Amino acid sequence: AKLTNEDVRKLAKELGVKFVRLQFTDIFGVLKNVAITVEQLEKALAGELMFDGSSIEGFVRIEESDMYLRPDPSTFAVFPWRPMDGAVARLICDIYNSDGTPFLGDPRNVLRRAIKEAEEMGYSMNAGPELEFFLFHLDNEGRPTTVTQDKAGYFDLAPVDLGENARRDMVLIMEDMGFEIEASHHEVAPGQHEIDFKYSDALSTADKIVTFKFIVRTTAQRHGLHASFMPKPVFGIAGSGMHMNQSLTRNGENAFYDPSSSDGLSEVCLYYVGGVLKHAGAITAVANQSVNSYKRLVSGYEAPVYVAWSAQNRSPLIRIPAKRGSSTRLELRSPDPACNPYLALAVSLKAGLDGIKNKITPPAPCNRNIYEMTPGERAALGIGSLPENLYQALQELEKDTVIREALGEHVFNRYMEAKRIEWDRYRIQVHPWELEEYLTKF
Ligand code: GLU
Ligand code: MG
Ligand code: MG
Repeated sequence: AKLTNEDVRKLAKELGVKFVRLQFTDIFGVLKNVAITVEQLEKALAGELMFDGSSIEGFVRIEESDMYLRPDPSTFAVFPWRPMDGAVARLICDIYNSDGTPFLGDPRNVLRRAIKEAEEMGYSMNAGPELEFFLFHLDNEGRPTTVTQDKAGYFDLAPVDLGENARRDMVLIMEDMGFEIEASHHEVAPGQHEIDFKYSDALSTADKIVTFKFIVRTTAQRHGLHASFMPKPVFGIAGSGMHMNQSLTRNGENAFYDPSSSDGLSEVCLYYVGGVLKHAGAITAVANQSVNSYKRLVSGYEAPVYVAWSAQNRSPLIRIPAKRGSSTRLELRSPDPACNPYLALAVSLKAGLDGIKNKITPPAPCNRNIYEMTPGERAALGIGSLPENLYQALQELEKDTVIREALGEHVFNRYMEAKRIEWDRYRIQVHPWELEEYLTKF
């Protein structure tokens, strides 16, 4: 059962909580904190705590800046690494305007709206991410490097693998905070790790992703390492993805499963796939929000490049894992861990619902390795490409009325504005590659 305000009051007392962190994210998924003492908990639970929204990127202009935090009691958790004497707890909050209406720029509200639309159609969404990240060494001044444990081995003779130890601690802390960890392993690149937790409803999953990143960063720091969720921190090795497994249930049953169809997939599942493929370009602008994201979406590193789906291989955007029954789901392989999980889930769901509403039949699944096809072969099969850079992705988002509606005009406008500036700042830089290529040549 979900925790209520009453439970939170009781638990805070029982666990000796001294400080409470009220958390929310800005539209780019950056975690924000308002720390209060337990004496203010009552006021906080009543939704009476105010903050200045104009100081949060993508929120509001100065004239309309009074915003209220409404803690979601079901998200109450104590940070296990803090002293038990004077414990620190957190509550994730929804954001309200001073007139008591939900704030349209709150990413959690954006996801709530998509979930509500699904509910009106009789569906709820389950989601489970696979988060990858790097653990890097610090230099002598304590600044993060891109040197990994495996490479550091040349001059670091310590027999222990710092990275594996840190990851073990992360898993233990997550379990303490109520995560059900399903797998945790070293990924293909040196210094790269993955931890997978059990799926849940979309909103709890987004909350967990935000918490996950916070735990991983904090724990890495305590181990003298730097954790990075940057999509492609090092050229020439794999980047970090955040595959998003997703499914719909209807009356408690998996709506993607149909035992009577030849592949075990329901019509609803196919339409959902059709919707996600149709809106893939605009989804990318949200699920891959940085300039750097597009350096991951290239061939050769198990990251998707082409807009296709398959049951068998890992090259397309959507893979359908073999499990059927209640585990029937699709795996969207494009999102990276630097995205805002609330927005990424909201736009995927919205695209899937659009597929269901408009009966968008996907093209035939592609069971060949798409990377090995010629452009002509791909064209014949109707296989398009994901945007090649942030600029192209933003163009796709701008054209896509369905995905824009999912974000709402407030988030869409602020997002576009900020991302276009980001792109322009990047575009005018002179990169080391260019110097190496041209400085002596011309
Ligand atoms: N690291 C790969 C990516 O960028 C994914 C590897 C995997 O299949 O787990 O998406
Ligand atoms: Mg992986
Ligand atoms: Mg995967």
